Formats: sequence, C-alpha cells, structure tokens
Amino acid sequence: MDFRLTQEEEQFRDSVKKFAEKHLAAGARERAHAAGYPWDVAKLMAKQGLLGITIPEKDGGQGGTLLDAVIAIETVASVCPRSADVVQAGNFGPIRVLAEYGSAAQKQTYLRKLLAGEAVISVGMTEPDAGSAVTDLKTSAKKDGDGWRVSGSKIFTTHSAYADVFLVYVRFGPGVGGIGSVLIEKKDVKLGKPSKFMSGEEWAQLYLEDVRVPQANVLLGEGGFKKQIAGFNVERLGNSARSLALGRYAYEAARAWAMERKQFGRLLCEFQGLQWKFADMKMKLDAAQLLLYRAAANADRGLPSPEETAIAKAYCNQAGFDVANESLQVMGGMGYSQESLVEYCLRRCRGWMIAGGSIEILKNRIAEHIFERSFSQRPD
Ligand SMILES: Cc1cc2nc3c(=O)[nH]c(=O)nc-3n(C[C@H](O)[C@H](O)[C@H](O)COP(=O)(O)OP(=O)(O)OC[C@H]3O[C@@H](n4cnc5c(N)ncnc54)[C@H](O)[C@@H]3O)c2cc1C
Repeated sequence: MDFRLTQEEEQFRDSVKKFAEKHLAAGARERAHAAGYPWDVAKLMAKQGLLGITIPEKDGGQGGTLLDAVIAIETVASVCPRSADVVQAGNFGPIRVLAEYGSAAQKQTYLRKLLAGEAVISVGMTEPDAGSAVTDLKTSAKKDGDGWRVSGSKIFTTHSAYADVFLVYVRFGPGVGGIGSVLIEKKDVKLGKPSKFMSGEEWAQLYLEDVRVPQANVLLGEGGFKKQIAGFNVERLGNSARSLALGRYAYEAARAWAMERKQFGRLLCEFQGLQWKFADMKMKLDAAQLLLYRAAANADRGLPSPEETAIAKAYCNQAGFDVANESLQVMGGMGYSQESLVEYCLRRCRGWMIAGGSIEILKNRIAEHIFERSFSQRPD
C-alpha cells in the first residue's frame, strides 16, 4: 500500500495548480459572491482539459480516472473555492450519468456543449414531498404515442436558473422499479420564483406541465433507478471533495492568520488553546482525505462502491464543516467577515451536509452495510 500520489498524478496536480494560479487566483473573492454561473471559468477549464476528466476520449472527455477528477477539484478549490463548482458540474454531476448511460444521439446532442463549457446540466430529483425519501417522487411520465408526457415539479435544483438541460427523475410506473429518468430542455421547463440557499446559490422550483418528451430523450427507462443511483455516487464524491477542499481552504487561511496575528503580545499560534484546535482540524482533514481517496481510487474509471462513497461523504461533509467553523473562530471577526472567504467556505460546507444524501441518510446506508440487511424507514 502506498499513500502517495503517483508521479503522473503529481504532475497533473501541479499543472492544475499552475492553471488555477494563473487564471483563477485574481477575482476569487468576487467570484464567490457573484450571482450566476462563471462561464468564463468554464470555457477556460474546457480548454485546459478539466471538464470530462473521467469521460472516455471517444465521447470527447480526457479518459482519466476518478482520482484525477478529485485531485482537480481539490487543487482548483485551494485557489478559488467557487471555481471548484465548475469542476463538479463538468465531471461529477449529471454529466457523468449522461456519459455513462446516454445513447450516442443523446451524447452527440448534449455532451459536446457541456464539455466545451458552453452549457450546464442540472439534476431534478427532489420534489416538495420527496426529499430524503426520493423514491416517493410523483413526477410522472405517461405514454403518448411514440414518446411521453411528463408532469410534476422539482425543488432545490442546483443551476436551475441557467441550466440548458435537466436530467429529471420520473415515474414511468409504480414502485421503485417504475422510476427512470429523462432529459428535458430548458425551453420546456417553467421556472418558479427565484430563491437562494444560505450559500448564495440560486434555485427555482421547476414546473413540468404536460411536457412532451420524445423516446430519444429517455435516459434510463423503467427499472433504471439502481443505475441512476450508482451514477449518482460519483456526484457524491465530488460533493465530498468540495467539502474537504473548502474546509482545507479555511484551515490554510486560519493557519496563516495564526502565524501573523498577535494578541496579548504573542502570536495566536503560541496559545495552546488554539494549537489544539489546529491539531484536531489537521486530524479531521487527513482522515477525510484518506477516506475520499480510498473511494475514488477503488472506483478508478468505474463507479465507486456505495459503502465507501457513503463513508467518504458523511465524513468529509462533517469534517469540512467542523474545520471551516473552527477556522472561522480562530480568525475572530475577520473570519466572520466577507474580507476573507472563510465564512463563504462555512456556508457552502453546511449545505453539503444536506445535499446529495444527508449525513443521516448516509449513516443509514452505512448501518445497512454493517449489519448486512436493510432497515425500512417506513411505518409498517
Ligand atoms: C445546497 C443544496 C443543493 C441541492 N441540489 C439539488 C439538486 O441539484 N437537485 C436535486 O434534486 N436536489 C437538490 N438538493 C436537495 C437535496 O437533495 C435534499 O434537500 C435532500 O435530499 C434532503 O431532502 P429535504 O430537504 O426534503 O429534507 P427531508 O428529507 O425532509 O429531511 C429533513 C431532515 O430529516 C432527516 N431525515 C429524513 N429521513 C431520515 C431518516 N430516515 N433517518 C434519519 N434522518 C432522516 C434528514 O437527514 C434531514 O436532516 C439540494 C439541497 C441543498 C441543500
């Protein structure tokens, strides 16, 4: 067992660092507080080969590994936390599900623009009455000649305000077996009142009113739910990587602060009460990193294991938040202010404890692996 990156991985990390320092360091703070999607960053990343890292070359990607994509997200976030969202959107989110299960025609229509940084795809899974219990979703797909009619509503969809295409979970029939997914273009989606998360990210409710979807836009038909969730495990690793990376960003800011800020005539880093906070933070970051790398490295180019993904995400989400929170405390009023990005990192990390499978739901999954049985969460 070797806990170091390979030489190629180190070279890749260094090249991403150079790119990020050259193009993303200036304006990192403004970008974090700006509305909308950083299209300029997306186009630069497309040129640099940072979108579609794990997507096969025949589909326009880079043919790299999941660990490469994790390294990219961490390295970009270490310079510009907000730009890590572009790495997420171009590698880990619904784009990866599309690349994994999409037909040649679907990839031809949508993937090229996504990989060029000219478009973004959103996933519409959550509904007003189906959050953690996602299989309770009601959005229906009813047969209509050689296509389908989709009706329902989705909430909390990230990028909803500017996505070009939506990967929408729908119900073709009853039960878990009846769930699948379709691709719906922006022009067919009615957006509700704009809203914002605590992180500043925008979302709007999606209304799908008897939308005609051709058979060619069915991504996974009836019985596709398990495959869909297997693809979604990749998204969870991107979410874990950003939690860890933004926690680390806050930690590095606090570490630098503690080595220059003086109170009572001494540097902050000389107070044992703060040294122990740093020791705790460092242990959490290292443990989170190992769990994340295990899940990504074991998956390689395939899909990560549900158990290793659940452990990595639950731990990285908690660690990222705890570390960002303690870093903010160490920086006092400056940490709480928008003068630094520490408060931004804290707000972002808080959301990932809920998004993409909350920590509690992931712990339920971990318990099922421990006891090798499923525990129904529903009343008898
Ligand atoms: C920042 C952010 C981005 C998001 N992006 C998207 C997106 O792009 N697309 C999309 O479809 N959705 C998105 N979501 C929605 C997200 O997937 C849901 O918020 C999440 O699944 C939880 O659902 P809920 O909010 O309805 O909470 P609920 O399901 O109502 O849960 C409320 C609380 O109860 C806990 N809980 C529920 N059931 C159990 C149980 N059985 N055991 C123990 N605890 C339980 C939960 O962990 C949570 O703490 C996003 C959410 C956030 C915060």
